[in-house]
Amino acid sequence: MQHHANMTAPGAAPIALRPQAPLLPGRTLGVLGGGQLGRMFVHAAQAMGYGTVVLDPDPDSPAGQVSHHHIQAGYDDPQGLAELARLADAVTTEFENVPAAALATLAARRPVAPAANAVALAQDRAQEKAHFVRCGVRCAPYAVIASAEQLAAAPAELLPGILKTMRLGYDGKGQRRVTTAAELSAAWHSLGQQPCVLEQWLALALECSVIVARGADGSIVHLPVQRNLHRDAILAVTEVYAGNLPQALAEQALQAAISIANGLQYVGLLCVEFFVLQDGSLVVNEIAPRPHNSGHYSQNACDLSQFDLQLRTLAGLPLTAPRQHSPAVMLNLLGELWFAQGAVAQTPPWAEVLALPGTHLHLYGKGQARPGRKMGHLNVTGPSPQAARATALKAAALLGIAPF
Ligand code: ATP
Ligand code: MG
Repeated sequence: MQHHANMTAPGAAPIALRPQAPLLPGRTLGVLGGGQLGRMFVHAAQAMGYGTVVLDPDPDSPAGQVSHHHIQAGYDDPQGLAELARLADAVTTEFENVPAAALATLAARRPVAPAANAVALAQDRAQEKAHFVRCGVRCAPYAVIASAEQLAAAPAELLPGILKTMRLGYDGKGQRRVTTAAELSAAWHSLGQQPCVLEQWLALALECSVIVARGADGSIVHLPVQRNLHRDAILAVTEVYAGNLPQALAEQALQAAISIANGLQYVGLLCVEFFVLQDGSLVVNEIAPRPHNSGHYSQNACDLSQFDLQLRTLAGLPLTAPRQHSPAVMLNLLGELWFAQGAVAQTPPWAEVLALPGTHLHLYGKGQARPGRKMGHLNVTGPSPQAARATALKAAALLGIAPF
């Protein structure tokens, strides 16, 4: 473990577990995980005058670069976790695959949100789906494939399907599309025979997501329902404005997200991802117990961003309903944009993009661009949905992002 003090955090003695009163600015908030989500949480916390501490093994992580303190240690390093609990008055997470046991260890000393059990559930596709069923929210037909017997017994109606590792998947990693029983068997073996779920491959009309923030008192607020376009199983574009989705569908997605959060007694920020099938029906895909890529538009289009909401749930501050003030389109900036001109990495044409009105550039401080790597995002706001879309399409053309 190494501890780097990047700058002096506001000083205040750590306070007791489960405070009745909110943690006010001047206190220090901790984050397990140093990726871009942690970086943007740190920015939001520092804007309000909080101190920050990030635990991440990477010496140059996006969040570690900007935090008051960076503890360079593994997520399960007892000394690192003890140091985090010493420095932080409350701890959140930004990385879904942080060991739930680390959150449980921290929770013995400090308020932690979200709780270890909710994070553990989101890390396990079978537990996650069982929770959807408990909440009465429809998910894709599925079967657990954790043994040769379960493989042999996989229901034929789940094919064609998609085999997903039970744990540790993101951005489509650990997934195989399969059409026949032979392909299913080959796919399960290629994934090292680890526990998986087989989901029926659904005919999607579109995808959407909802972000809710739930306080310790059970109060819930939410961001508007986001319409998402994925390319190669990675989020490419999010569009949020009146009319992005049929009203009844958006309402149904919101109610489902609220049931899922309430069913977990969830405290913190939660994103629920949905599929809309070609017959117009809604199916839940998965949950993320943290800020989500599809919520990044809220930084520039809403009066409270998803990171502000995460902070409020963690610090026990009042949750007021966020209001979207501008129609918005978010473009993900993946590593391939750095190679649009050829094999040698080049800086994308930021000045040309920023000459378009209503563009907001967010870069994560990652040194190396690689295809598929999330390097940043561009939020585009406009006076109308048409204007925001038109500007976003111009920016996409400049950057080499395919039109949408
Ligand atoms: P994330 O980065 O969101 O955590 P992940 O690796 O957990 O992604 P999923 O959300 O399970 O992956 O799937 C990624 C994408 O693949 C979905 O957004 C959707 O476009 C497609 N997909 C996944 N499952 C199905 C399915 N059962 N039917 C049709 N499309 C699917
Ligand atoms: Mg997903």
